[in-house]
Amino acid sequence: MTRFRNIESLGPLEGTRVLLRADLNVPMTVNEDGERIVTDNTRILSVAPTIKALSEQGARVIILSHFGRPQGVRNPELSLEPLGQPLANILKLPVSYVDDCIGDEVVAITEAMEDGAVLLLENVRFYKEETKNDPDFAEQLARNADFFVNDAFSCCHRAHASTVGVAEILQSAAGLALEKELDALEKALGSPKHPVAALVGGAKVSTKLDVLTHLVEKVDHLIIGGGMANTFLAAQGIDVGSSLCEHELSGTVVSILENATLNDCKIHLPTDVVVAKEFAANSASRTININEVQSDEMILDVGPDTVKSISADLEGCKTLIWNGPMGAFEIEPFDAATVALAVKAAELTEKGQLISVAGGGDTVAALNHAGVAAKFSHVSTAGGAFLEWMEGKNLPGVSVLLADRRLSL
Ligand code: AMP
Repeated sequence: MTRFRNIESLGPLEGTRVLLRADLNVPMTVNEDGERIVTDNTRILSVAPTIKALSEQGARVIILSHFGRPQGVRNPELSLEPLGQPLANILKLPVSYVDDCIGDEVVAITEAMEDGAVLLLENVRFYKEETKNDPDFAEQLARNADFFVNDAFSCCHRAHASTVGVAEILQSAAGLALEKELDALEKALGSPKHPVAALVGGAKVSTKLDVLTHLVEKVDHLIIGGGMANTFLAAQGIDVGSSLCEHELSGTVVSILENATLNDCKIHLPTDVVVAKEFAANSASRTININEVQSDEMILDVGPDTVKSISADLEGCKTLIWNGPMGAFEIEPFDAATVALAVKAAELTEKGQLISVAGGGDTVAALNHAGVAAKFSHVSTAGGAFLEWMEGKNLPGVSVLLADRRLSL
């Protein structure tokens, strides 16, 4: 049993109504016929096992989700109705839909459902009370069900009515995907096997300051790549030419470096880099030592010597947490370091030497580009929630599942 309440802890579910918080905020496009269609069904696939498990136990499954940012206003372009069919196709079960998420009519429908049936409610953010975690609104949501199950890790960093308010009212539990996610995160940063390496890349230090500050206190190796490495290099007096660089943060990064020394965290910065004068496909690039960047050149990837040295360090590690690409991976050849290190981490994971957990939107795209996402121990598709977890913050949607002490473990 995990530290979090799971579906099993709710007891027999036959004939009960379970309100399931899913994240159906999936990428969609409008086709030639003006229909909204799903372009990436990853999030539907992720919640499907929980829906099936609940339905197979005879629960009536009532799915609650947000879509986009309707700002508390009903907006047909952000309706969840078009998600019903894709859900039904994946579940191989009929999915009915109701055009609201609260009210007497919705309650009556949930009460009349057959055991095992699946109902999709309308976008919870059509009510401004949702994002304010309004207690009356949470009460209204709770009227739809006997139990609450949250399976949307990507929404757990928000204290909304559909993540926290309703969980405080109904007996609540983590769904299968959330439970798996929390177990993986616990293994990576909660009580990991040491040595632990964190690989943090991406564009800017400013967006990941809290991540870096927290990680130096937790991990044995902090490997810094991407645009943010430039700010660290510049703070150490290295000329980074016309690279993306936040010079104004040099004092901040120096204190991160000092804190790392105090905490026995080894910081790894690039020793060689790939530079170009333009950020464009097939622009002329060269691989140079970090001290040779010319004023009109941009650092767009870490170099092969750095990759070799990081790979050797990873051989000695037991756990890896990864967020952010090592270079501007969207354009070749600046994807080379990200791909090489992703392949290395995947190999070590396959050999059973490394627990590898990666997360964040661009990181998932980078691992997919490298073709190794499936070989990592765990890949989180959550953006904000994954970063807040890397910052060491308590996620309110998770804490509420821990705090609910009304059921005995
Ligand atoms: P983030 O969302 O912070 O993880 O940043 C991801 C973005 O960082 C990607 O779009 C990369 O192209 C970009 N990036 C990575 N390395 C560099 C670099 N050296 N210079 C500019 N952008 C970079």
